[in-house]
Amino acid sequence: MNIVVCIKQVPGTTQVKINPETGTLIRDGVEAVVNPFDEYAIEEAIRIKEKIGGNVLVITMGPPQADAALRSAIAMGADEGYLVSDRAFAGSDTWATSYTLSGAIKTLGQVDLIICGKQAIDGDTAQVGPGVAEMLGLPFVAWVRKVEGITDASIKVERLMEEGYDVVEMPLPGLITVVKEINEPRMASLKGKMRAKSAEIKKIDASTMEVDPDRIGLKGSPTQVFRSFVPERKGGGEKITGETAELAQKAASVIQNLGVVK
Ligand SMILES: Cc1cc2nc3c(=O)[nH]c(=O)nc-3n(C[C@H](O)[C@H](O)[C@H](O)COP(=O)(O)OP(=O)(O)OC[C@H]3O[C@@H](n4cnc5c(N)ncnc54)[C@H](O)[C@@H]3O)c2cc1C
Repeated sequence: MNIVVCIKQVPGTTQVKINPETGTLIRDGVEAVVNPFDEYAIEEAIRIKEKIGGNVLVITMGPPQADAALRSAIAMGADEGYLVSDRAFAGSDTWATSYTLSGAIKTLGQVDLIICGKQAIDGDTAQVGPGVAEMLGLPFVAWVRKVEGITDASIKVERLMEEGYDVVEMPLPGLITVVKEINEPRMASLKGKMRAKSAEIKKIDASTMEVDPDRIGLKGSPTQVFRSFVPERKGGGEKITGETAELAQKAASVIQNLGVVK
């Protein structure tokens, strides 16, 4: 089974600073780590490989220094690392990121399962996993908290819901995004770290995959950041109580009073 894990390198802090001019992240001087949710994705891929055999390929789209994230995954036990990097990808929004990653994944040959984290702790949109699945025309299940069983043809998982969980069976190839309840990521062994140090990280750029130049980078991004700011905390708030129909009526009247809908 060939398992691809999408990982993102993120600032190792929740105090992310945004350049007010460009609306992009300020990465200088900030320690970079593997997105914590992606460590669960790496761990799950390695566990599946240990159970039924196969290869774990990790892929990241980012600047050249994202190479370090791939090496961390290899140190944990992933087999190969792929760095998707090109100046032409700069300024990608989540749509262009999903498009570019899906194009890169197509160059990896037969892929049976793709695993992503639930979300990245900096961008926080949780859009890239489902976006990649959509662009590859694959089924997906988000918020997976347990893999109950897997064969070459299908995967059975528990999907975390607000209250409880669903059991979902999905044909493969397909994609899942995982939550932190799924496992406890292992520490890299010394042997793993040594292997990671000398591992060859394969590069994928705009010339080594089939992408429409109009759909990548800033130019190919349908959304643009006009302004980034921390919203002011508003006090007060009104709690609405009652039966469902009454609640709906009260909520509708509150919305109407805001004057944003007629
Ligand atoms: C309007 C807009 C404009 C942007 N402009 C820029 C910009 O100019 N420069 C810039 O650097 N960023 C920019 N970004 C941020 C960039 O689009 C996101 O960092 C990226 O698309 C990932 O989105 P996310 O952080 O919300 O990840 P999520 O969707 O929350 O991540 C979910 C999962 O997807 C996978 N994943 C996410 N990103 C990657 C990746 N890069 N490689 C591999 N796997 C991944 C991981 O498994 C992750 O756990 C912009 C975002 C938006 C919305």
